[in-house]
Amino acid sequence: MVARNTTTQNRHRAYLRRSRPPCHLCGGEIDYSLHWRDPLSFVVDHVIPLARGGEDTRENTRAAHRHCNRQKSDKLLDELAARPGPAPRIFVTERTW
Ligand SMILES: [Zn+2]
Repeated sequence: MVARNTTTQNRHRAYLRRSRPPCHLCGGEIDYSLHWRDPLSFVVDHVIPLARGGEDTRENTRAAHRHCNRQKSDKLLDELAARPGPAPRIFVTERTW
């Protein structure tokens, strides 16, 4: 489990807020003045999720709409749900004669 560094998070956030890039998921513009609870507000998205070994670097962080970020998360959940079941059991046949 990667420990989330709030200082680093805030720095990425501040950087994105200053450069005001469009949403990297849908390509649409982001209104950086919207309330954080608004579905079209700005969130920091990790290209490779931290939970999957992504790094908390500027290269791995992009600006996204809250709503687009959520959809992406849902997709990851589907992906997890679609994972194959437990590996087939291997029967070890050890002959004793
Ligand atoms: Zn978007």
